[in-house]
Amino acid sequence: MFGYSDRLPALREAVRRFVDEEAIPRECPALAHDLDALEAATRSLRAKAMEAGIYAPQLPVAWGGLGLSWRDRSVVLEEAGRSFLAPLAMNCAPPDQPNMINLLAEGTPLQQQRYLVPLARGEARSCFAMTEPEPGAGSDPSMLQTVAARRPGGWVINGRKWFISGAVGASFALVLAKTGEGATIFIVDAGNPGYRVVRNIASIDGFQIGGHGEIELQDCFVDDGAVLGEVGQGFAYAQMRLEPARLSHCMRFIGRASRAMALAQDYADRRHSFGQPLAQLQQVQAMVADSHIDLHAARLMTWHAAAKLDAKESIKHESAMVKVFVSEAVGRVADRAAQIMGALGMSEDSPVSMILREMRPFRVYDGASEVHRSTLARRILKESLRP
Ligand SMILES: Cc1cc2nc3c(=O)[nH]c(=O)nc-3n(C[C@H](O)[C@H](O)[C@H](O)COP(=O)(O)OP(=O)(O)OC[C@H]3O[C@@H](n4cnc5c(N)ncnc54)[C@H](O)[C@@H]3O)c2cc1C
Repeated sequence: MFGYSDRLPALREAVRRFVDEEAIPRECPALAHDLDALEAATRSLRAKAMEAGIYAPQLPVAWGGLGLSWRDRSVVLEEAGRSFLAPLAMNCAPPDQPNMINLLAEGTPLQQQRYLVPLARGEARSCFAMTEPEPGAGSDPSMLQTVAARRPGGWVINGRKWFISGAVGASFALVLAKTGEGATIFIVDAGNPGYRVVRNIASIDGFQIGGHGEIELQDCFVDDGAVLGEVGQGFAYAQMRLEPARLSHCMRFIGRASRAMALAQDYADRRHSFGQPLAQLQQVQAMVADSHIDLHAARLMTWHAAAKLDAKESIKHESAMVKVFVSEAVGRVADRAAQIMGALGMSEDSPVSMILREMRPFRVYDGASEVHRSTLARRILKESLRP
């Protein structure tokens, strides 16, 4: 119905094998917040992902990837997303994945050579720095406080960013800064003396390579070659990366939530209560059924948006609807899975508790649910769209 390619079944099988035989056995709770150990595990798994022929499914073939369509990608990313480590190993995880989108679309040949080549090869990491502490940019990007001022031969950037995923150990950052009326994205090397990762912010989730950093930019001089694309187009470029980034997140998290429910179903089959398996209790059955309904709807919405992207159609409207629905649906599924598993679901003896924690911030980043609802409603009412 959604027109997958002939090579997809074999590729899906290869990713499934990689996830079950290589990635999941390497997962342990100690990796979740140990940035060095996570980096090392990713590096060793990456070599295996390359060997298995499943590396960088989203990248064009010319850049060392598999060049998959969005529809094929939706299946492959879901499969990879069952594991915390597989998307990192396969180099199809944020923030590098969307940063590669920006560098492919807006980078000059020189910038691509210097930044995209090592990123695509998995030899370097990057981050995307937009959000700022109060009173700076958050849900409302127009509140941007970081400023880039013109100087002879370049720009001087001053500001502070936070919750910047992947910042610790990243080789460079794409930094959004105010330039006159608009905003511009600058590529800033981590070695720049005006750029400093102040700290890693401990957050509810885990398995984020490079953590979530707070970054200080103090009299940070970059030359004109650091401008990504055109001066003043930063918000448009940030928006352009967000739609595919959100959709890819949905794909991976549908996989993660499915794994949580599969573990809960196994538990419900073997665990007895009051003389019968949990799986025979109607309230448990309802949680399982509701979760499958959520996952099915989440998949169909995601696949439909993916098909539209392949057809080069706009997903401006769908992207917001998919993000709201999927982020909330996968949260419900993970929550039910944890509930079905009782104390085990609350513990680090099972990955379900970490899956539940990972799902929660998805309702905040890439646009909070409330912001998407408000944008959707305004557009629907303004354009008198009928359901
Ligand atoms: C795990 C994680 C990773 C992140 N990674 C990155 C990253 O790599 N790079 C980066 O730049 N940023 C990143 N962020 C930051 C993220 O983009 C912001 O958290 C998000 O944009 C919201 O901004 P804020 O936190 O300042 O919330 P605020 O803007 O303070 O909003 C708080 C809450 O107010 C409500 N709200 C806000 N505006 C509206 C509105 N118009 N209508 C209705 N309700 C509204 C919503 O409920 C919202 O959750 C990350 C955040 C998290 C949690």
